[in-house]
Amino acid sequence: MEAILGWLFILGLLCGIVASLIGHKKDRSILGFILGFLFGPFGILIILVIRGSRRNCPYCKELMQYTATVCPHCQKESSSPAPAKWQNPRAAEKMMKADLRKFK
Ligand SMILES: [Zn+2]
Repeated sequence: MEAILGWLFILGLLCGIVASLIGHKKDRSILGFILGFLFGPFGILIILVIRGSRRNCPYCKELMQYTATVCPHCQKESSSPAPAKWQNPRAAEKMMKADLRKFK
């Protein structure tokens, strides 16, 4: 029994690390680790579909902050400013929590 728990713990740690690496690209590394540790492979799937606080540049397709108006990679001004809901960090957090609830 203890051996099974030990393996589950190691599996949780591994999934947590993988999920935190994926979440890091979306500024969600801690959330990724928690999801991966608690839900294992399902946590990795959840962090894959969660939208981070970044979007793709319409010109070079590199990731940039949702609120940024000038791309840090190609220096072009983004023609599509961030949606109003992303301007407010609290609203963005609420949206993220709503995203999480879909998986429960
Ligand atoms: Zn760009």
